[in-house]
Amino acid sequence: MSSVIYTFTSFTTSNSYIVKPFNDEKCFIVDLPPDLDNVIEFIKNNNLTVAGALITHGHYDHSLGLSIFEGKAYINLDDEFLARNPQDQIRSLLGNSFEVGEYTGDLYSISELPSEIVKVHKNPGHTKGSVSYEFPEEGLIFTGDFVFKDGIGRTDLFSGSMDEMKYSINNTFLNFNEEYDILPGHGPSDKVKTIKENNEFIKMLIDD
Ligand SMILES: [Zn+2]
Repeated sequence: MSSVIYTFTSFTTSNSYIVKPFNDEKCFIVDLPPDLDNVIEFIKNNNLTVAGALITHGHYDHSLGLSIFEGKAYINLDDEFLARNPQDQIRSLLGNSFEVGEYTGDLYSISELPSEIVKVHKNPGHTKGSVSYEFPEEGLIFTGDFVFKDGIGRTDLFSGSMDEMKYSINNTFLNFNEEYDILPGHGPSDKVKTIKENNEFIKMLIDD
């Protein structure tokens, strides 16, 4: 996993990753948590250049850092509404004590990413626009809140759907290369193969 050079876990428990798939100091940031300043400091201290931010889905614990991120942020535009309007999600989870504004800056479509370096898989279920980012050269897949080591993302919040989750498990997750590592949006990483064999939530959703 040498090309993931930094894993940052936010106070919200979401993971943000810095991955360096090029032969130079250019990197991608996977997900933009609210406390992104720690990630930005790491980038500065290590003289890295940011090629872009890859947002796995529009929930605030993965995208609120947009407000301080300077650079190109890529997202499946099906989740644009969520990323631009974190206030609804935060209000329903935390009440009115924490005020955030609407995000009005630029967002770039995942279709504009260089497909020879990063392959994007659409996997709706946790949210409508949830995606995984695969780096084939590195053998890495960043799944956001689609699949975790020991669970799957919840489907009862903000555009989630259990039917879509089941479809994505059977049509996206089962096609992942078994030798690759999954780096999820929360909790520890593991190999696709190990997760397929041990994750009870996934096993329950696999069609016979
Ligand atoms: Zn989420």
